[in-house]
Amino acid sequence: MKILLVDDEADILTSMETAVSGEGYEVISTTDGWQALELARQQRPDLILLDVMMPGMDGYEVCKKIKQDPLTENISVVFLSARDITMSKVEGLDSGAYDYITKPFHYAELFARLRSFQREHEYRQKITAMMEFSRSINILEFDELVSRIEKNIKTIFQSDFFSIFLWDPESRKVRLIANNRHDFDDTVSMEIPIESTPIMEEVVSTGKIVYVRDFCKSRYQTEKRDKYRDDYALGIPLLMGDKLIGVLNLNGNSTGFFNTPDLTYMMLGSEHITSALSNSLQYRWIQEMAITDPLTGLFNRRYFFERLNMEWARSQRYKTKMSVMMSDIDFFKKVNDTYGHICGDMILTKTAQMMGKHLRKIDVIARYGGEEFILLLPETPKKDAAMVADRMRRDMESTVYEWEGQKFSVTISFGVEDTSGDGVATVDDIIRLVDEKLYKAKESGRNRVIV
Ligand code: GH3
Ligand code: MG
Ligand code: MG
Repeated sequence: MKILLVDDEADILTSMETAVSGEGYEVISTTDGWQALELARQQRPDLILLDVMMPGMDGYEVCKKIKQDPLTENISVVFLSARDITMSKVEGLDSGAYDYITKPFHYAELFARLRSFQREHEYRQKITAMMEFSRSINILEFDELVSRIEKNIKTIFQSDFFSIFLWDPESRKVRLIANNRHDFDDTVSMEIPIESTPIMEEVVSTGKIVYVRDFCKSRYQTEKRDKYRDDYALGIPLLMGDKLIGVLNLNGNSTGFFNTPDLTYMMLGSEHITSALSNSLQYRWIQEMAITDPLTGLFNRRYFFERLNMEWARSQRYKTKMSVMMSDIDFFKKVNDTYGHICGDMILTKTAQMMGKHLRKIDVIARYGGEEFILLLPETPKKDAAMVADRMRRDMESTVYEWEGQKFSVTISFGVEDTSGDGVATVDDIIRLVDEKLYKAKESGRNRVIV
């Protein structure tokens, strides 16, 4: 904390300087009111100890000017004066001063006041930091939100490491969504059953902060978790009302913060994180809903065409081949008629999952209509796409369904085309051609791929 001392009596000033800097504060000083204003502007002290009676500009005047200047208005002023009369106290506090000390004073009293000021000052700084944090994470885009949380969490919670897990009560698992740990194994998907993480398990079951001072020697350290060598561990619930949506874990204590962690402050921080996360997750969910087919979980037709147009442009630009395939389940009406609509729905969902298994990450699959699927395979000529289609076709054919004791199989037909196909000049041409080829597959006996 930086303190500016102002007193016109040089010997008093010198003795104060020695005493106050001896307490570990950074000290600057002057005997003159005008210069005090200058120093306040240039050096931005946290606190000014200001003598009231000074020749030239007195302390009240200095204080008023400091409070009028936007550059210095937040600096706290404590008056020092021999005039211990009520009027001067009122006048002092009216001019915007924070406190008042009457001369002569004992240094013990001054130091006690300084300590109390410092506590309040730090508290105010923490609140300001929290407000800025809260404002900075008021954002819907999930990845950006997570990166902002990552950026700020060390200063807000003053721990070395953090990780945020979302809680899924249905599967009783927690899923990692953000962290700055290097000792986490990236190769495994960070979805863990709650019972294998004792701290989070306790947070989830109690909804309260779990604070472990000596993690390695605690009952929370299990054999499997032996690789975590943290001294301190803190699990903070991410609560929305009384609903728990996740856990914020803090570890590592190089700042010494956990010696006396401010649990109320941490709860406040975690509430800001919760509300930002939940807004953002809801937003993401709505966005996903808008492009997802509810039955199969595949993309919907609208999204498919957006992607198709993008990939078309890319394939034109880089002169790569891109394939499109359209598929339609054979005699699906009969399946519905024989086994019922619910059975039909089940087959649609299973078919979607089956097709997904044969695709690469960059491929796009969507539900085109009732029992029709459409697929986009970037950087793939149609002879390769046809092989993928045929693998799906065989997979479909060999799958045996059982419904109410009856066993049966279903087949599927495909039409495949790519960007180099005869008569392909626009995206619409490809769609028209795969549609025609699918029709040919149906006409010529079904359960086949036409390229
Ligand atoms: P084809 O081999 O010529 O394709 O014969 P098909 O019976 O599959 O074709 P058609 O177009 O005559 O019938 C499609 C059927 O798919 C009719 C419709 O009731 C069914 N269907 C469409 N959407 C759904 C759905 O979401 N769930 C279920 N269960 N059935 C659906
Ligand atoms: Mg059909
Ligand atoms: Mg159809």
